[in-house]
Amino acid sequence: MRCDKCNANIKENEGRELHGQNLCEDCYMDRLSPAKACDPWAVFSAKSFSKGDGTSVAMTEIQSKILQILKETGGAAPGIIAEKLQITPSDLEREIATLRHMEKVRGELRQGEKIIHLW
Ligand SMILES: [Zn+2]
Repeated sequence: MRCDKCNANIKENEGRELHGQNLCEDCYMDRLSPAKACDPWAVFSAKSFSKGDGTSVAMTEIQSKILQILKETGGAAPGIIAEKLQITPSDLEREIATLRHMEKVRGELRQGEKIIHLW
């Protein structure tokens, strides 16, 4: 099964359904509570118990550039990142989705604007 939003692989028992879409947990939470403030530490500790296999995932050049930008800016709107990298917003969205699933970046709403920042 694949997430209808970010196209990530979802395990059988981890998929969520919302308005007829199959969503991964991340996207489901986004849909459900887009304005809710993140609690990165709660998520971090929850996940570090269930994972911890230490596998490292290779990043593409564009993905490491995104991380570099986020490191320098402390978080930026997707539009700004896309402009810096000179890629289209939909290309950026795909990269961000991948990075989210690698637990490298998170999305957050600041004053009603979506901001991407490091995990
Ligand atoms: Zn998803």
